[in-house]
Amino acid sequence: MKDVIVIGGGLAGMSAAWRLRHWDIEVLEADTRLGGRIRSERRGAYWLNWGGHLFAGAGTSTDLLLSEVGVTAVALPGSLAGLSMNGRLLRGGSIATYPLRVPMPLDARLAVLTKGAKIAASVLRYVADVVRVRPGESGAQRQQRIYDFENSRTFADFVGAMPPDATELIKTTVTRSAGEMDQISAGAGIGYFSLVLGFGAGLDRGIVGGPSTLIEAISAAIGDRVQLGAEVHEVVHRKDSVLVRYRQDGVDHEAEARTVVLATTANVSHRVAVDLPDDVRDALGRIVYGPHVSAAFLTDEQGPRRWDDVYAIAAPKRSFAIALNQASIVRGTESERRPGGSIMTFSPANLGRALLDKSDEEIVESHLRDLDQVLDRNFSSSVVEAHASRWAQGSPYSFPGRGTLQSALTRPSGRVFLAGDYLGTLYTETSITTGFSAAQDAMSLLATDRQRAGRPVVQQVQPAVPAPPAVVGHPRQHQTSISSSSERHAS
Ligand SMILES: Cc1cc2nc3c(=O)[nH]c(=O)nc-3n(C[C@H](O)[C@H](O)[C@H](O)COP(=O)(O)OP(=O)(O)OC[C@H]3O[C@@H](n4cnc5c(N)ncnc54)[C@H](O)[C@@H]3O)c2cc1C
Repeated sequence: MKDVIVIGGGLAGMSAAWRLRHWDIEVLEADTRLGGRIRSERRGAYWLNWGGHLFAGAGTSTDLLLSEVGVTAVALPGSLAGLSMNGRLLRGGSIATYPLRVPMPLDARLAVLTKGAKIAASVLRYVADVVRVRPGESGAQRQQRIYDFENSRTFADFVGAMPPDATELIKTTVTRSAGEMDQISAGAGIGYFSLVLGFGAGLDRGIVGGPSTLIEAISAAIGDRVQLGAEVHEVVHRKDSVLVRYRQDGVDHEAEARTVVLATTANVSHRVAVDLPDDVRDALGRIVYGPHVSAAFLTDEQGPRRWDDVYAIAAPKRSFAIALNQASIVRGTESERRPGGSIMTFSPANLGRALLDKSDEEIVESHLRDLDQVLDRNFSSSVVEAHASRWAQGSPYSFPGRGTLQSALTRPSGRVFLAGDYLGTLYTETSITTGFSAAQDAMSLLATDRQRAGRPVVQQVQPAVPAPPAVVGHPRQHQTSISSSSERHAS
């Protein structure tokens, strides 16, 4: 019997596996590769990217994981505030000045200014009253407050009707959450603006070598304890263990472990974890994800491009919402511009929904057509490689009423510990934080089991690490720390 079976080799599962690497573990991953919604591939000095690309900075679980594993992330050198709209490319500057710099009808300009002021005022309130860590509170209380903020109406209701160009501009930012304006809660839309405006614990770092570098480094530490193509279909408690049923290469298998970290998306966890308490399963089944469709383009230009100093270019009224310069980190390190580059595009929410059933060629073609408008008329002639990726479960988003689900989702449920980005509001940072928490909870239970059985609990000591920082993320993070776990093991 294993100590822990980690189900799902995405960022949450791999973060848990990293912290559990000194125990007897097995990772079961349905896909033929690890990483889930983290997916990049190297191409010489560059990398192509299709999944999560912006990561949290200093003092976060992400920062902790990267330094433990030995993978480097840097503040992105390029501007995060590019915009291409109505024939004009803005390469930077404050997004608050967009409505003054983008050509648009007067009524739209005025609407962006007035609605923008309303959103900005709410962002300030969100940052000062909601996200700020209060002395003595737990992570759970803080995360609950974030979910509860403006959680009884949609962002569309909050912002009100607008002329078409104003709607397009504001929508391009908010829908990157994967929900449309009339789907996400007002609080989630305001929270997304706070991320884009760079307030609080933002996402503004890129991983050198591409995001999959992190997954590859963890995978190397775990070695052959990973089963790929292993699709779990049932997780069920026994008296002091958990039985995991999965299918691999057309053959049914059963594996037993003392504990399970269930790090699949909420819909899969709802389906497979058949004996979780009803309210937990119900809450899992009510989590909503919106789609993303992304594409990656490797280019062979021989000289500088006008977007070399820009990382992100929002693109209202296009088939994608944003173009992302994946060569930005390389640009920031060179004294002389080397040939080539890498661009990622992505279509969230309804833009993605419209592309989910299209072929790769159709997706690449529609994105290229728009890149020629957004970046440069000749952009497509510099493309030497292009691939699309579809993510039906692109990102979970907070909808009106989402706050009421949180207490069930974070209540301990026997020997199965949940992890994944749907448990919090900061995407990759939430995945890592919840992976850490689930690993911590599993280790605590394993230590208790061993003490009960009169067996020593010394052999699985974790390396010393600093206490986890206080960031947005999984509530349980703040109730325990990895160092206290090590102490427990050594006792
Ligand atoms: C295009 C795109 C852009 C994004 N941009 C950003 C960004 O810039 N910054 C950011 O922070 N976040 C971003 N995100 C979100 C981020 O990628 C996710 O929050 C994060 O990677 C989720 O990790 P996870 O481990 O929680 O889930 P997943 O990555 O979904 O991992 C779940 C794993 O479980 C496996 N699995 C599923 N079913 C089974 C089964 N039955 N048995 C076994 N295994 C199973 C899956 O194959 C997968 O590997 C983006 C996402 C996308 C798609």
